[in-house]
Amino acid sequence: MKTARQILKQAVVKKVAIGHFNIADLAGLQAIVAVVKELGVPAFIGTSEGEAKFLDRKAIVAYVKTLREEYKLPIFLNSDHTHSFEEVKKAVAAGYDAILFDGGTLPLEENIRQTRKVVRYVKSKNKNIIVEGELGNIGSGSTIRKELPKGAAINLADLTKPEEALKFVKATGVDMLAPAVGNIHGMFANAPEPALNIRRIKEIKDAVKIPLVLHGGSGNTDSDFSAAINAGINMIHISTELRLAWRKGMDKSLAENPDEIAPYKLFPASIDGVGKIVKQRLQLFNKLL
Ligand SMILES: [Zn+2]
Repeated sequence: MKTARQILKQAVVKKVAIGHFNIADLAGLQAIVAVVKELGVPAFIGTSEGEAKFLDRKAIVAYVKTLREEYKLPIFLNSDHTHSFEEVKKAVAAGYDAILFDGGTLPLEENIRQTRKVVRYVKSKNKNIIVEGELGNIGSGSTIRKELPKGAAINLADLTKPEEALKFVKATGVDMLAPAVGNIHGMFANAPEPALNIRRIKEIKDAVKIPLVLHGGSGNTDSDFSAAINAGINMIHISTELRLAWRKGMDKSLAENPDEIAPYKLFPASIDGVGKIVKQRLQLFNKLL
């Protein structure tokens, strides 16, 4: 079995992106596991602070680890958007494979100071854990939006700058970087997302030379994804689309089975819906289409 770090290295060599999918329950996890089994490509499973609290960090680590070992699956768990040192410590103690420390809304120097502290701490505990840093504001929350999230960087002047990215990476020692390149968290109800700035992705990649992570992938176009991967993105986060598919599946299930009360008989429509998106995204990100 390859480690998370080896899987990341492999994605860099192959010039593909690892799919990162958030979960809040076992229906979401089952959907991802089924597709990984079918396609034989790796996936990262993410829990935000809210999702981690709901699932229990140690319990979800044990669950993912058990499935990984039992079925020899390349699935790994990421502590997504971890905002405090306290939560970082909990993720390390629980046994997460990767941690995103999110200081994206902090001033650069403060973001560097806190991220460096996190990297040092995590590496002192377990060198195998991948640490990701965030530079630039892409808004927060995997929700359906009517307007841009407050403070999100969409204008060219607000996007992550290559020279700042290099300074950040050198000073902190992060393994992966999540920049603001026109991406935003969540997706729009009735409009396409703003286009990604592919040129800026390439400029940042050329400067930092470490794997870049694209957050807020829900709602972006396939052609934008492919161009972003070719420009140096090695991991793409999808969450909002999965939440929407989960909800639609559950609505359908409840409407079609008004008298059913067994949860495991109601979940399959959600698992199907989530799985369809995971499959389509993994095929695209791994250049299997
Ligand atoms: Zn994110």
